[in-house]
Amino acid sequence: AWARIRGRLREEVGEVEYRTWLRQMTLAGIDGDEAVVVLPTRFLRDWVRSHYGDRLSALWQQESPAVRRVDVRLGQQRAVPAGEDGDEAAAPDREASARRTGLAEPLATGRGAARVTDARGDWSAPLDPRFTFDTFVVGKPNEFAHACARRVAEKPALPGFNPLFLYGGVGLGKTHLMHAVAWAIRAGEPSRNVAYMSAEKFMYRFIAALRSQSTMEFKESLRSVDVLMVDDLQFLIGKDNTQEEFFHTFNALVDAGKQIVVSADKSPSDLNGLEDRLRTRLGCGMVADIHATTYELRLSILGAKAAAAGVEVPKSVQEYLAHKITSNIRELEGALNRLIAHANLFGRTITLDGVQEVLQDILRAHDRRVTIEEIQRKVAEHYNIRLTDMSSARRARAVARPRQVAMYLAKQLTSRSLPEIGRRFGNRDHTTVMHAVSRISELMQADSAFAEDVELLRRMLET
Ligand code: ADP
Ligand code: MG
Repeated sequence: AWARIRGRLREEVGEVEYRTWLRQMTLAGIDGDEAVVVLPTRFLRDWVRSHYGDRLSALWQQESPAVRRVDVRLGQQRAVPAGEDGDEAAAPDREASARRTGLAEPLATGRGAARVTDARGDWSAPLDPRFTFDTFVVGKPNEFAHACARRVAEKPALPGFNPLFLYGGVGLGKTHLMHAVAWAIRAGEPSRNVAYMSAEKFMYRFIAALRSQSTMEFKESLRSVDVLMVDDLQFLIGKDNTQEEFFHTFNALVDAGKQIVVSADKSPSDLNGLEDRLRTRLGCGMVADIHATTYELRLSILGAKAAAAGVEVPKSVQEYLAHKITSNIRELEGALNRLIAHANLFGRTITLDGVQEVLQDILRAHDRRVTIEEIQRKVAEHYNIRLTDMSSARRARAVARPRQVAMYLAKQLTSRSLPEIGRRFGNRDHTTVMHAVSRISELMQADSAFAEDVELLRRMLET
């Protein structure tokens, strides 16, 4: 069965990919309902696991349904069976090539003289048709990056904008903006050769070219582009020789008046582990930061995406989500998509109650642990008193009442004990905290306006 599975995979992925990544994969055995396959290096194991893991499981299931999972592990390869790949000698320069490319792990061996036929040819990864300027919602956190991207799209290689370096946290729109630039340039002038790829792909191609001794072709094909975009450059950290290759490509293109667009999760100066000269050059053009989202931006993105999907999403639901899912736009979008799919599937309209049910798991992950400091800060702000009064000895009602509210919320929203809470409020006794908690509860029952006020504070702190 294993031989057939390998054969199928080989057919599916093609010879080049198979030889690069899968040739050294062997079956270690079957353990209950789990097939264990091993690869000799961590790098290969991770690669196979993430790129072929699902496919392997599916093929196994077809071949023998008793196997339900495939576990890809690090392990020693058994002797290569005669007849299968037996004609190949290990490439002598395996270690050397690993060193050159900056990989910590030796690479899979390829056939020494084999040519990687696709070292030339279409460089670019496909562009996502949804990632255009039309669908990009502009707000305070991304307006500068957006303006720079627009400018580059209108007039590539403009001095001062080359390279364009976009950076920001995950899921904030870097890839979206890069694709938007690529689409716009291609639309304006279809003959322009725009190449977009991840840094990971850049490395993979570089390694493949090294192994097949086609680095000249690799260099030529790269240097024939008009616009080169490399996404997630932080991937090259620690990959010294791929960095070096990128550096030379970069210089050659900029010298030839070609545009470069790069993204990363940090600014050039914070990308520790990138060579200094590369960081310097990356910072020479325009560096634009995409900031964390604001409530307003999240709300407009939700509005735009709901409208695009043609689905009615009540304002209250949009506001709730914008409050609750603050991490990044990808998660926000994921939550909205789930709601829309759910509504379509069950033919129901989207309601606030429904949201909590459908998104339970996502929302729970976003329940933040509130700290006592945050509570003190928010409450002090709300009642317009000084933060220091949270722990001062002042007993004036205007100060004492907010302090009690903060203690009450600390008890409700954190897992701190009464003595611990007391300590954080100017070394007060735990009985003081206990008293505050019951006093505020009483007041809330007696005074609905006050209760609403405290509830509002609680909600602000929880989201
Ligand atoms: P990054 O590359 O920074 O990790 P992406 O560009 O992949 O983030 O964005 C994640 C998701 O959020 C994508 O689906 C993208 O379309 C969407 N997105 C990000 N920013 C915006 C925006 N300003 N307007 C609309 N959608 C956005
Ligand atoms: Mg990205």
